[in-house]
Amino acid sequence: MYYVSTRDKQARFAAAEAIVQGLAPDGGLLTPETFPLLPPDALEQLGEMTYQERAVFVMGRYLDGFTKDELAEFARRAYGLEKFDVPAVAPVHTVDESTHCLELWHGPTCAFKDMALQMLPHLLTASLEKTGERKTACILVATSGDTGKGALEGFRDVAQTRILVFYPKDGVSAMQELQMRTQEGENVGVCAVEGNFDDAQTGVKRLFSDVALRETLNARGYFLSSANSINWGRVLPQIVYYISAYCDLVKAGKCRAGEPVHVCVPTGNFGNILAAYYAKRMGLPIGKLICASNSNNVLTDFLKTGVYDRNRAFYNTLSPSMDILISSNLERLLFSLTGEDDAAVRGYMEKLAENGTYTVDNAIQEKLREHFAAGFCDDQETKRVIARVWKEKGYLIDPHTAVAFDVLAQYRIETGDTTQALVVSTASPFKFCDSVLSALGVTAFSAGTDILDQLTAETGVPAPAPLAALKGKPLRFQQCVGRDHMADEVLGMLR
Ligand SMILES: *Cc1c(COP(=O)(O)O)cnc(C)c1O
Repeated sequence: MYYVSTRDKQARFAAAEAIVQGLAPDGGLLTPETFPLLPPDALEQLGEMTYQERAVFVMGRYLDGFTKDELAEFARRAYGLEKFDVPAVAPVHTVDESTHCLELWHGPTCAFKDMALQMLPHLLTASLEKTGERKTACILVATSGDTGKGALEGFRDVAQTRILVFYPKDGVSAMQELQMRTQEGENVGVCAVEGNFDDAQTGVKRLFSDVALRETLNARGYFLSSANSINWGRVLPQIVYYISAYCDLVKAGKCRAGEPVHVCVPTGNFGNILAAYYAKRMGLPIGKLICASNSNNVLTDFLKTGVYDRNRAFYNTLSPSMDILISSNLERLLFSLTGEDDAAVRGYMEKLAENGTYTVDNAIQEKLREHFAAGFCDDQETKRVIARVWKEKGYLIDPHTAVAFDVLAQYRIETGDTTQALVVSTASPFKFCDSVLSALGVTAFSAGTDILDQLTAETGVPAPAPLAALKGKPLRFQQCVGRDHMADEVLGMLR
């Protein structure tokens, strides 16, 4: 199987090349030319497998040039008990008879980014070897909070890599910032950027297109690479857990094999829900893909009207990992829904770059409505949902997950549809202690990491070990730069 750019499908790349490059040379996203269908008996077979084996089965279909043994070794190292605190890796928690929660935060940084970022370094280092690349990959990351820590933890002390993370000074939670600023490892760097996530992301995109910077780094033995969710090596491991969760629901007798299940995904950059869409394309019986947004509801409007318009107010919300106005991975969905029409995608992306807006044609709008539903939830409602789910179900959820619970509830009220649904839970509530405590009615918060104990005292739920371990860790990083000084930071780190 080959990979092509969403903006020009003439040039084809092998899987290893696509993973090393991250972004296509023309700025498009590298995407599989075709999607493999699950064989008829696959779900039955997968039902009997461990999560690691499921990952090998699914990923192997996309990664020509990687052996089964290689992938098995990656899965063992990425998803073992040294990294994840449950053997199921991505367990499904049943909340009520038709609502199930896919918990994707049992990894080392307590957010769903671990599902992909524990795998990506293995895929990348193997790909460097397969493509004969001798230079050191410098991974540049713009993060809305969780990607940064996930990438730092995934790439720390990985040979032939350096990693530099930029996060928005005013756009991550205290716990997220602490997680990043205390990061260990010899090949890591962390730097705050003045502004919001879009400032940080735009800044990193500019670094990638900075020819002079690339030349200097090249001479020093480095090349730039990405761990943002535009890298195919990020999207692919995410397809696995949708298939895995469906198998678990069947095994637990919650649905019959073949029966559709809706998935509701708290969405920012559109990577997670895109993986669900790809799982559906592979033949997984997913009903509606329900896209849940916070007050930055650019995707709600797009999925309902076909008009993407980023010209709007930006809000810092209680679910910061979804505070995004440009959802990069949407480009891959457009490529798919236009029937791989690269010229059309290029046109939309040019309009987005020039005017911040584009409108898709009627045929695409119809397909959007066929596959997707969408809604959004503001901060006040987010808090109400956290309180309600805790009180009624005894289940503690974080603000991102709460957005998804609310949007699913809205969808059910609007449609009367009671189909089984999988709500994707993307972070541990302990990453957002102040928001969660405040939702539960607490008004005075303990300082620093003591707030973890406070949430435990309030609920009886223990804090995940990796967060508890932050107590007393020294701060290693304090830089904060303006958007125009990010290149200096890169050059400073890569001497
Ligand atoms: C990254 C993230 C999201 C958004 O996921 P996308 O793939 O960018 O849509 C949602 N919730 C949490 C906790 C995240 O870290």
